[in-house]
Amino acid sequence: MSHSRRQTPPNALTVPERALPDTPLRQALRFRPGQSLSDLDPAATPGYPGRGKADADELTDLIRPALDQWQERLFADGKERGPAAGSVLVVLQGLDTAGKGGIVRHVFGLVDPQGLHLASFKQPTPEELSHHFLWRIRRQLPGPGLIGVFDRSHYEDVLVVRVDELIPAEQVDRRYEEINRFEADLQASGVRLVKCFLNISPQEQKERLLARLTDPAKWWKYSTNDIKVRAKWPAYQEAYQVALDRCGPAAAPWYVIPSDRKWYRNWAVAMLLLEELDDLAPTWPAPDYDVAAELARVRSS
Ligand code: AMP
Ligand code: MG
Repeated sequence: MSHSRRQTPPNALTVPERALPDTPLRQALRFRPGQSLSDLDPAATPGYPGRGKADADELTDLIRPALDQWQERLFADGKERGPAAGSVLVVLQGLDTAGKGGIVRHVFGLVDPQGLHLASFKQPTPEELSHHFLWRIRRQLPGPGLIGVFDRSHYEDVLVVRVDELIPAEQVDRRYEEINRFEADLQASGVRLVKCFLNISPQEQKERLLARLTDPAKWWKYSTNDIKVRAKWPAYQEAYQVALDRCGPAAAPWYVIPSDRKWYRNWAVAMLLLEELDDLAPTWPAPDYDVAAELARVRSS
């Protein structure tokens, strides 16, 4: 950090103790090698400092100012220092209805949209398919000072592609290491990865699919493909297990977010983002002008 940087304004980012988890969520939710996804409860609420749904809005309100200010500092730092400022990339993976869209709305809606870079990855277009699978991903990386959000990601290329056998198994097999190298390069270039697997139960998914079909305002969210994917639940669980096992080095861990309770899921991702930004701790850029002199000029104008 350059010596010309101003001190952090005192207490500017203080989050009240009662809004914080007792252990950092980055520890509590970190997927550990050897863990089995089937042992992780999608309805759990690890680290949640409140009583339940009733205080989720209040707890989120308590962290919002810190999130908002970190984001603005990161943005300002990006403008000032370019790539040296770094960026954050939140990867959202999970089965249909797990809450990728809900997180974009409820968590990233907490910060200034101009500081975000959102990208969602669908079935690849013919052009995308003609390139290496990471080509379309690289084109959507967040620039300096931005918070990137991926709704699906390069992991689809070892998830749906593996389950549906879209390419030979040996080729899928090579992708895990490619992803690890790709992510290590990203981190070396200053991108902070926050990889979230939104873990829902099959029962909860059924409820949410039914809710989509019984509310005309949700019909647009349903795809007739969803029920076909649902039928392959065990194969997806296995594909996720392998992806988490093989692409979770200590430096780029996965977080498994219990997602049966939407309020917990949203709170948890907001808190993980806050912890990442706390760690990055961008500072306000120093002015490239003499503040006192400019004050005097404006006053006398
Ligand atoms: P949604 O996110 O619900 O709009 O659905 C997007 C669809 O695109 C999902 O069915 C994904 O499995 C599919 N998809 C995303 N990435 C890939 C990929 N690399 N190869 C094949 N299908 C993909
Ligand atoms: Mg969908």
